[in-house]
Amino acid sequence: MAKIGYEKYLAQSVQHLKGVGQKRAALYAKLKIDTYEDLLKHYPRGYVDYSDVGNIGDAPIGEMIAVRAIVDTKLPPVRTKGGRSIARVYASTESGDELELIYFNNPYASQKLYIGQEYVFYGKLQGDLLKRQMTNPVLVKAEEMEGLTPQYPLTEGLSSRMVASNVRTILSDPNCEITEFLPDEILTKFQLPDRDTAIRNIHFPENQGDAYAARRRLVFEELFTLTLGMKMRKQRKKVVSNNSFTDLDASVFCKSLPFRLTNAQERSIQEIAADLAKHEPMSRLLQGDVGSGKTAVAAAAVYLAAKNGYQSAVMAPTEVLAAQHAETFRKFLEPFGIAVGLLTSSVKGKQRGELLNQISNGNADLVVGTHALISDDVEYKQLGLVITDEQHRFGVNQRAALSKKGSYPHTLVMSATPIPRTLSLILYGDLDISILDEMPAGRRHVRTLLVDDSYRERYLGFVRKNVEEGHQVYIVCPLVEESEALGDSTISATKYFETLKDKELKGISIALIHGKISSQEKTQIMEEFQEGKIKVLVSTTVIEVGVDCPNATLIIVENAERFGLSTLHQLRGRVGRSDLQSWCVLVSSKENDTSKARLKLLTETDNGFIIAQEDLKMRGPGDFIGNRQHGLPNLQVADMADDEKVLYAANDAAEQLICEDPDLKNYPEMKEQVERLFEDADLTMN
Ligand code: ADP
Ligand code: MG
Repeated sequence: MAKIGYEKYLAQSVQHLKGVGQKRAALYAKLKIDTYEDLLKHYPRGYVDYSDVGNIGDAPIGEMIAVRAIVDTKLPPVRTKGGRSIARVYASTESGDELELIYFNNPYASQKLYIGQEYVFYGKLQGDLLKRQMTNPVLVKAEEMEGLTPQYPLTEGLSSRMVASNVRTILSDPNCEITEFLPDEILTKFQLPDRDTAIRNIHFPENQGDAYAARRRLVFEELFTLTLGMKMRKQRKKVVSNNSFTDLDASVFCKSLPFRLTNAQERSIQEIAADLAKHEPMSRLLQGDVGSGKTAVAAAAVYLAAKNGYQSAVMAPTEVLAAQHAETFRKFLEPFGIAVGLLTSSVKGKQRGELLNQISNGNADLVVGTHALISDDVEYKQLGLVITDEQHRFGVNQRAALSKKGSYPHTLVMSATPIPRTLSLILYGDLDISILDEMPAGRRHVRTLLVDDSYRERYLGFVRKNVEEGHQVYIVCPLVEESEALGDSTISATKYFETLKDKELKGISIALIHGKISSQEKTQIMEEFQEGKIKVLVSTTVIEVGVDCPNATLIIVENAERFGLSTLHQLRGRVGRSDLQSWCVLVSSKENDTSKARLKLLTETDNGFIIAQEDLKMRGPGDFIGNRQHGLPNLQVADMADDEKVLYAANDAAEQLICEDPDLKNYPEMKEQVERLFEDADLTMN
């Protein structure tokens, strides 16, 4: 019988571990450590090297060091006026330096020390040139003198020493068997230690080399399991469907557009058409920076679906965007007799009933909407194509829910967030990818300025100038209302709107939009802005996603330091959507240098991929994707920015394996690992 990687021993509750009482188990629970296995997987975040005992004569004051010294004198504890006890101990090192050890409120610590005995003390070196001191130093144990001592992520009441000792207990039990699930060829090819060695060495490495190798193996394992899982998802989507289209000529549609498609758009349309001709459903990501023209590509796909007698659904993350899409698709597609419906949660009552009828009897060829499209009562006659816009806003499971409305429909997901290749392997490892890496001709680069609020009068003057020239302006604030502010000078949309309306922008038609106003009102305001009735729109980031108003030439972002770089790049993409020269003014009064340098990058490049990569480095993948809703397993050891090379290696290895053995028949333990990882993330493998 095949041995399963996690046998009973490791599945036990930490409560049963020798040395762990109820109190400590509760502390572990805070760190989400329930079983022995969880504890083994609680990897250290770094190490202290006690064997590298410093010479205090040379060590810089203020540094944490370990010192070997013999205790010479102990003074009895005395009480201070404040009621604290102080005990002083004097010790000398081999080189003859004297070290004063001060124990505050810790009489036992000094009582444990014997005169004439040598110890290693670890702590922050204090004092001056003449006198070296350490306050409440830690006594280093003999076993910690060998190798590196792990430092764990902790919670109050728990010390690294406690965790290390519990981990040691588990690892020294003969029942603790950590089985390998990676094939030998992979270990050899990538020079990885086996699993047992890696887990032992990540906790108690003898040297930095061992620690590095152990970490590398665990990072590989994590990324391999994740990419393998995504590939299995992709594999399982390759069912035979009868939704293969036969008429794949979109040229009439393409010629009807008011512009010439870019080469990238044409190439993407061809890639999509080739997928649609297959007897397995398309699973494709269309990735393109803001303004690269994804909507026209999507419309071409809808056109082909309709031509072949199939319905399409387009899901957008916000009502504003859904309404705008419906408008655009109508313009592009109604000339071909393609009927477009808009379904959002504000479509109610009779109107909703009628629309649902048209969807179920097939009269609606395209339904554009929000996640209302996946409500239970929406039934399609023959859904052949599903498109989700701004994919990163939806969880992977929502994507799947819409597809279930048809019988293996083709799916296209669109993302405007340029995602570094590393991350897209993980987020979209189950998709084929088309990239719009070319902007429509005639686009002018958006001039971006970084200023502080002493420029306010000037840039508000610039707002008036743009409006006088017949153009429109966005002003973005991080908060809706003042009450959310943390007592700082962060501008709220509501208050700023009031002052601008009455003072600086008096007489100009100005409106306020944010997430707290009703969606009907929002749609209304957006329409009026698009029609040019409203000249200046003050908002929060509700406008971040996809809004298209080519006449807008200026966007001002207040408290820019409060936004992520990718969000700012998205916001900037709201202007420069025509051949008019456009501007983006980032206002930040933070003196902080890193935040300045970060914002400065935006003034230097409008390459979304460079910005995304930088964002990823600074904020990590979780934040980068906007929320944790993406539904993918969290990475425990791997770091997207630092472990790029390992990711590519792991991805290649996973690819090779899945080609040889798509169902992992020969690798039951590996399969179990993958399933466990995806189960923990509550993500179906199908
Ligand atoms: P995004 O990729 O951000 O969704 P859109 O599809 O909204 O971009 O397109 C941005 C703007 O560019 C729209 O006004 C659209 O009509 C226009 N557009 C799209 N493709 C082209 C093209 N090939 N030439 C000129 N304008 C285009
Ligand atoms: Mg778009």
